[in-house]
Amino acid sequence: MTTTRFAPSPTGYLHVGNLRTALFNFLITRKAGGTFILRIDDTDPERSKEEYVDAIKQDLEWLGITWDKVERQSTRLDRYAEVADQLRGMDRFYECFETPTELDLKRKKQLNMGKPPVYDRSALALTDAQKDALRAERPSHWRFKLDQTRIEWTDGILGDTSIDAASVSDPVLIRGDGQVLYTLASVCDDTDMGVTHVVRGADHVTNTATQIQMIQAIGGTVPSFAHHSLLTGPQGEALSKRLGTLALRDLRDAGVHPMAILSHLARLGSSDPIEVRMDMDELVAGFDLSHFGTAPTKFDVEDLYPLTAKVLQSTDLADVAGPIADLGVPADMADAFWSVTRDNIRTLHDLAGWWDVMQNGADPVVDEEDRDFVVQAMAMLPDAPFDDTTWGTWTTAVKAETGRKGKGLFMPLRKALTGQSHGPDMGRLLPLLQNIKPVV
Ligand code: GLU
Repeated sequence: MTTTRFAPSPTGYLHVGNLRTALFNFLITRKAGGTFILRIDDTDPERSKEEYVDAIKQDLEWLGITWDKVERQSTRLDRYAEVADQLRGMDRFYECFETPTELDLKRKKQLNMGKPPVYDRSALALTDAQKDALRAERPSHWRFKLDQTRIEWTDGILGDTSIDAASVSDPVLIRGDGQVLYTLASVCDDTDMGVTHVVRGADHVTNTATQIQMIQAIGGTVPSFAHHSLLTGPQGEALSKRLGTLALRDLRDAGVHPMAILSHLARLGSSDPIEVRMDMDELVAGFDLSHFGTAPTKFDVEDLYPLTAKVLQSTDLADVAGPIADLGVPADMADAFWSVTRDNIRTLHDLAGWWDVMQNGADPVVDEEDRDFVVQAMAMLPDAPFDDTTWGTWTTAVKAETGRKGKGLFMPLRKALTGQSHGPDMGRLLPLLQNIKPVV
């Protein structure tokens, strides 16, 4: 049975980078059949906020990413203390007294000497008396003692991977103020909750190496790990600079359709083409983690709009009846309204503009050289109500009267009636126009 988790820290809103991780874990779980856990990594009481926990759930729900269980790290602190004791008893956990400034200085010295900034383990040399003396004057933190061997695993995306534990600092698991850090909590949870697969960003590769040793130390089963590449902006710049505009809720407010973003992220960075999928089952069926590459993946938020437009073109009225009714479109017009507009919108937000054109009329756009023609044509337009034949009959008559044809005939009329040079088929739009502003 596959068990995965998506483990956000509730310190902010979810963004596309987080979603990539959530989606990959979700898709492999739904494909294999299993349990997808939403794990709230809230061991930092200062930065974790309840409003973000709620927001994370809302954003996932909006996308249709459903979880089977919620776990909260803040409710498991006793268990983490127990595991810390277990590690202490095994001599894999040691107390350190360096202040942040001292550690910083050590790192700088190492770097100056051309050495990697790895913690030198000097705390291991302290005698009990020295520790007692230090304990009396300053807080201590605790590190996991890595076994300095080569740590190897077969990564679901990176392939065979190995890291020399001697090149990594022993990870701090408990801070000076007693706060349990993510690494300890995550290792306990992955073990206790029977997590079988962990997919996360490539920024966690070194963590994975240390976590493999920790899981082994506490007697857990090491899950399969896969590290996806990190997203960058369209020019390859770090995405983090732009995260403010890429929060999922901002995309939702901008009108991006959930299936557009899901279809995009389920394929971006893989060897499979990006294709619009209309439901989650199709995404699940077509997903293969092994098709993803290791290079940083460029993400352009603009790509979500053509995809949204495509999704909307295939969307049935039933799925948009709510927003259409909210605009004030009467129920008996909704079908005609949607079939006329859906091929001509970037997002659902554009519907309001079309409804305004239909209900109130557009401000006519008339080029100077077309003015006489448009005035003459509008005088020939029969009185409302219009039907499916009105446009054809009218433009045939106008053509006969004025000698205009093709674009020279149709475009000025479109611009006079809609105020725009692009839009729905005029033959189908005209019957929906309830008001036409005069050309002056
Ligand atoms: N809370 C961690 C993060 O957001 C989870 C990482 C992990 O998947 O283990 O980076």
